Amino acid sequence: MNQDPDKQAKDRSQTWTILRLLEWTTDFFRSRGSESPRLDAEILLAHARSCSRVELYTAFASEPSEEERVAFREMVRRRGDGMPVAQIVGYREFYSLSFRVNEATLIPRPETEHLVIEALDCAARLNRQQNVLHVADVGTGSGAIAVTLAKHIPDAQVVAVDISQKAIEIAQWNAKQHEVDGRVQFLESDLLSEVEEPTQFAMICSNPPYVTEAEYDELAPSVRDFEPRSALVSGPCGTEVIERLFEQCRERLCSGGQLIIELSPMISQACMDLGKETGLFDEMRSIKDLSGHRRLLSMRRESDAP
Ligand code: GLN
Repeated sequence: MNQDPDKQAKDRSQTWTILRLLEWTTDFFRSRGSESPRLDAEILLAHARSCSRVELYTAFASEPSEEERVAFREMVRRRGDGMPVAQIVGYREFYSLSFRVNEATLIPRPETEHLVIEALDCAARLNRQQNVLHVADVGTGSGAIAVTLAKHIPDAQVVAVDISQKAIEIAQWNAKQHEVDGRVQFLESDLLSEVEEPTQFAMICSNPPYVTEAEYDELAPSVRDFEPRSALVSGPCGTEVIERLFEQCRERLCSGGQLIIELSPMISQACMDLGKETGLFDEMRSIKDLSGHRRLLSMRRESDAP
């Protein structure tokens, strides 16, 4: 009855346990240039098994079913071809909320969480009109900023715009999912041009397209091949969209209101200078992300003189 221990060890090594699947897939993704191969493997395997990542850790020695392995294999193939994990599973976590994404939306990035933190800070001290904080999210994409702000600021009324109707459909779905659809209004609009009400906002937030055409050609293929170019590229300088947004603030940002923009460190100084030229702002701050890059501009519109 006693089995040869060598044979037992061999049997084990040939069984596709969760641990072995993860190790193999991690090596494969690394060889394909993923920057987070282990995480990618865990998210995909958890998705194939409809469980959480933590549950994988408590089941290292078990074997996924044939059905789960087939589903996982297909996802591994797509990831190996460069498709982002978020698009394979159809969602991405942002500020502890899950956002549906697809090829029409930019995948929310951790850098953008800094924008949310700054916006929440500002919201605490901004003036309300009839107990409502009017917020705009310009270029809402998946709705990450608009929905997160509505979720965390109970008296916020958010207008979220995007030039892409397809992105808006996803953002609407996300707002409903997180039960803030009653306080977020979506609109297809080039920046704020189509927005009628409210005329002015206490806070305007935006993660606009800010990549230059030349930088775009250097981006990773997984970004260029799978995410919408229009969400990323601004023009030859990178500052074009932000410059137009500054101009719109003249009409659209309340006095004493706050404009918070995510941008590339490459254009941070140029945008600071453009902001100064408008003469609208009395306080302009540049905020760094965790990598030490100048990632945000937060600017307060001058209050009216008494
Ligand atoms: N606001 C969305 C985000 O931050 C989309 C931004 C964009 O498409 N440029 O993820």
